[in-house]
Amino acid sequence: MPAPSTFEQALERRLGPVVRALLWTAFGGYLSFTLGGALTRHSGVPLWLRLAPGLPLLLLVVLGHVHRAPRHYGALGLAAVAWLEFGIFLNGYARPEGLLWMLPAYVVVPIAASPIWLKRSHFIAAAVISALLGPLALLLLEPSGRWQQFQYLNYMVIALVVAAVLNGYQVRLIGQHLQLEQQLRLRADVDELTGVATRSRFLEAAAQLLGAAIDGATPLSVLYVDADHFKQLNDSHGHAAGDAALAGMGRILRENLRGDDLVGRIGGEEFAVLLPGLDAAAARAAAERLRCAVMQMRSAGRALSISIGVAVRNDETSLEPLLARADQALSAAKRGGRNRVEMAG
Ligand code: GH3
Ligand code: MG
Ligand code: MG
Repeated sequence: MPAPSTFEQALERRLGPVVRALLWTAFGGYLSFTLGGALTRHSGVPLWLRLAPGLPLLLLVVLGHVHRAPRHYGALGLAAVAWLEFGIFLNGYARPEGLLWMLPAYVVVPIAASPIWLKRSHFIAAAVISALLGPLALLLLEPSGRWQQFQYLNYMVIALVVAAVLNGYQVRLIGQHLQLEQQLRLRADVDELTGVATRSRFLEAAAQLLGAAIDGATPLSVLYVDADHFKQLNDSHGHAAGDAALAGMGRILRENLRGDDLVGRIGGEEFAVLLPGLDAAAARAAAERLRCAVMQMRSAGRALSISIGVAVRNDETSLEPLLARADQALSAAKRGGRNRVEMAG
């Protein structure tokens, strides 16, 4: 599952504009419905009272803009449907045309609102409010013949079925999109073979950690890790064995680092590690620990070794010069005979 904030952000991106547009439509549609009705037909309910539900609808529009939390969209939508239904009742009450004049309004509400119900309970609540509770008052209070009741029932069933189909389609589509988005992000962020961060993800997260170290004036170290004689291992045991060794290295790096540390594969058999809070002595100890752990790993019948260059941040404000110093230390470790840790000057 994605982190809740990511999930909410993804939902807000998809549903937010739809919810706000529908709330505006509910408000504007209700005003034109009421004013248009007042201009053309007499009603037993005074106009100011029929206009009154427009106010809470406007309030819901404002809430939809101010409070952009997808977990509240269902409640916002239900409140809008309830006020609309109440308003439609006020407009239909004491009118000679009775139920049929209201029929288009009753049919439009559940269909128009169908995209926003992510939970089944919200969909059912909206269906009950719009199909039963809304028109029930008019059905009971106003004289309506069999023909009117049949028309109402017929169109309401059609409206609810259409709303259910649209809603089911929308919910499935959003679910599939979120899943795909999550898979793509995972692919972009996590190296498939070694399970550590990809180069781009490492550089992105490292820049943030570096910024935090600068702000907090805390130490920060970088390790540049490179497998020794890896070409030989590939040549003598095949690429599959090389791949297995890389996967093992990735596992060891992940298992031997703290939660705050960041490790990424930045080249073929090259990894970089960022150690927030670690000074020179602690970073050297961590590097030695990694080197020994890799030595313990037997790959294709022989011990694999790594060389590590360590650089502690002096006054660098970007990652490149820090990585470059760690890389120089790595070259020194290679020249010094490999399977060793070298500190940057
Ligand atoms: P050194 O000790 O100087 O680092 O020697 P080396 O052989 O490790 O270094 P070199 O840069 O000459 O070779 C790196 C090798 O790593 C060559 C390349 O085929 C191999 N390699 C890079 N990525 C992968 C990979 O994903 N899978 C496998 N199996 N091999 C890889
Ligand atoms: Mg290399
Ligand atoms: Mg190498």
